[in-house]
Amino acid sequence: AKESGRDRFQFYTPCMREAEPQRLTLLEDMRVGLERGEFRLDYQPQIDLETGRITGVEALVRWDHPELGTLMPGAFIPLAEDSGLITNLGQWVMWEACRQNKEWAEAGLPPVRVGVNVSARQFREENFIDQVREALKMTGLNPANLELEITESLIIQNKSHAVPVMQELRSLGVKLAIDDFGTGYSSLSALGSFPLTKLKIDRTFISMMDTQTQQRFIARAIVSLGHDMGLSVIAEGVETAEQLELLKSFGCDEAQGYHLGRPMPAESIAQMLMCPAAV
Ligand code: C2E
Ligand code: CA
Ligand code: CA
Ligand code: CA
Repeated sequence: AKESGRDRFQFYTPCMREAEPQRLTLLEDMRVGLERGEFRLDYQPQIDLETGRITGVEALVRWDHPELGTLMPGAFIPLAEDSGLITNLGQWVMWEACRQNKEWAEAGLPPVRVGVNVSARQFREENFIDQVREALKMTGLNPANLELEITESLIIQNKSHAVPVMQELRSLGVKLAIDDFGTGYSSLSALGSFPLTKLKIDRTFISMMDTQTQQRFIARAIVSLGHDMGLSVIAEGVETAEQLELLKSFGCDEAQGYHLGRPMPAESIAQMLMCPAAV
C-alpha cells in the first residue's frame, strides 16, 4: 500500500501534468509526420585526408514540423527511442539513405559510402538484420557503400547479442563504425572482439586538441591503436584548419566537421561529388 501510494504521488506531480501532454502530442505528430513525409535527411561529407576527396557522407535526420519548423534530432530522437517509434523512423532513414546513395551512383557520380546512425533500441529489434537486408535489396545499393554507426555502450552492454548480429551484418557486406569513440566505458582492447571496420573519434577530443596537449596525445593514440587493430579511423567535429593539420600528421584516415562541410541536402552532395577535390 505504501508503495502504490508513493507511485500515485509521483504520477500526479504538477510538472508531469504539464510535460506529458506535450510529449504525447509530439509523439502523435511524429507518427503522422512519418506517414506524411515530413522527415528528410541531410548529409555531411567525410573527407579522405590523403586525397582530399569525399569518400563518404553521414545521413542526419531532420523533421520539418508543420507548426514548429525544422526540428533537429536532439528534439525528437530521444522520444522516438522511448516510445519505440524509432523502429519505424530508423527503418525509413535506412531505406532513404540507401535509396539516395543508389540515386547518386545511377547519376554516374563516383561511389560514396553512406553512414546511418543506428540507435540501441533499433539494433536490438529481432528483425533488424532483415531490415538492413531489405533496404539493400529494394534499393539495389552495393552493401559496401553502407556503413552503420553504432555506439560503444550499445555493443558493450550486451556483448553476447551484439557480436553475432554484427557478424551477420558484416557477412551482408556492410561496414560497421563505432560512433563517439572515447566517450563510453570501453577500452580499445575490449573492442577487439567486435567485428568493426571503423572508429570515429568523438568530437570532444577534437575540440580540445587546439588548447590541450593531453587531448592531442589521446587523439594520436586512438589513431595508432585503431590502425593496430586494423580499423580505419575518422575524426568527427573538425572545426579548424589547425585540427585538420594535426589529424593529418597523426595519420588519421578521414575527417568530418564544419571546417570541411556542414550537413547539407543531397543535391549539394551531388555537386561536391562532381568536384575533383574538396580540400
Ligand atoms: P552524431 O552521430 O554524433 O552526429 C554528429 C552531430 O554533430 C550532428 O548533429 C552534426 O550536425 C554535428 N556536427 C557535425 N560536425 C560538427 C562540428 O564540426 N562541430 C559541431 N559542434 N557539431 C558538428 P545532429 O545532426 O544534430 O545530430 C545529433 C545526433 O542525433 C547524432 O549525433 C546522432 O546521435 C543522432 N541522429 C542523427 N540522425 C539520426 C538518425 O537518423 N537515427 C538515429 N538513431 N540517430 C540520429
Ligand atoms: Ca554518428
Ligand atoms: Ca558521432
Ligand atoms: Ca558525437
